[in-house]
Amino acid sequence: MARKPIKARKRFGQNFLQDDMVIADIISAIDPKEDQHIIEIGPGHGALTALLLRKAGQLDVIEIDRDLVPKLKSKFKQFQQLVVHEADALAFDFTSLAKNSEKLRVIGNLPYNITTPLLFHLLSQSQCIDDMCFMLQREVVERICAQPGSKTYGRLSIMIQYQCEASQLFIVPPEAFEPQPKVESAIVYLRPLQKQDADGITISDLNTVVTKAFSQRRKTISNTLKNMMSQTVLQSLNIDLQQRPETLSIEQYIAITRAWSATNK
Ligand code: SAM
Repeated sequence: MARKPIKARKRFGQNFLQDDMVIADIISAIDPKEDQHIIEIGPGHGALTALLLRKAGQLDVIEIDRDLVPKLKSKFKQFQQLVVHEADALAFDFTSLAKNSEKLRVIGNLPYNITTPLLFHLLSQSQCIDDMCFMLQREVVERICAQPGSKTYGRLSIMIQYQCEASQLFIVPPEAFEPQPKVESAIVYLRPLQKQDADGITISDLNTVVTKAFSQRRKTISNTLKNMMSQTVLQSLNIDLQQRPETLSIEQYIAITRAWSATNK
């Protein structure tokens, strides 16, 4: 039987999941357990929420659309383990949900317009996060998971993979949503690494170096970084400086950042 068309707000990036097979696949990829505390960003009408409630211990959902919040509360009122927060996930303090140093699992079919800032907001609080599983635009997932040498490898790949283990799980076609987005989506799995200090650099310094390196993708590293660092320092790193930015590994960017931070501070 055809479903009723759903009212969707473009400004909140609303594309609601309506394919039961895809919903089941996402839940089995997340594999929620009774002793876990799960946070869902953007529950919408509760397509994922309903199945999560059957399996998860504690579930907190964060929804910005104030018209959806009362609907969610009433639809799931019998579930004691559910807390509905009417809030903007971009400004949300996730650490406040992690009680007794527990680690959270964060999931969601994310609004495409806030994906990158939201990932960085979450990673800034990664000390309380065990893992994350998100539906994003396929192109963004490919950029996140890209390896050096590929066309999609860039700032996003390096900044996310520096902080997380990242893998693409599966692709979801536009027909799985109502309304249908113009592009394909994909599921990405992220597990924060919690190891940054060992490299002796800050995320902000790495970001400065990588942003500069990729500011002119077609130029060599030597050319792009010449105003930022002395050639002598760069040459001391044993990196082929005639390479283009997309061929350097994350370890090489860490080495460049370490040298830049040391000479710049
Ligand atoms: N999870 C539902 C599903 O799969 O059908 C809805 C997914 S829809 C792509 C994104 C959801 O995120 C919408 O419910 C939207 O209102 C909500 N949203 C958008 N921006 C948000 C924000 N900044 N904070 C929290 N929720 C947000």
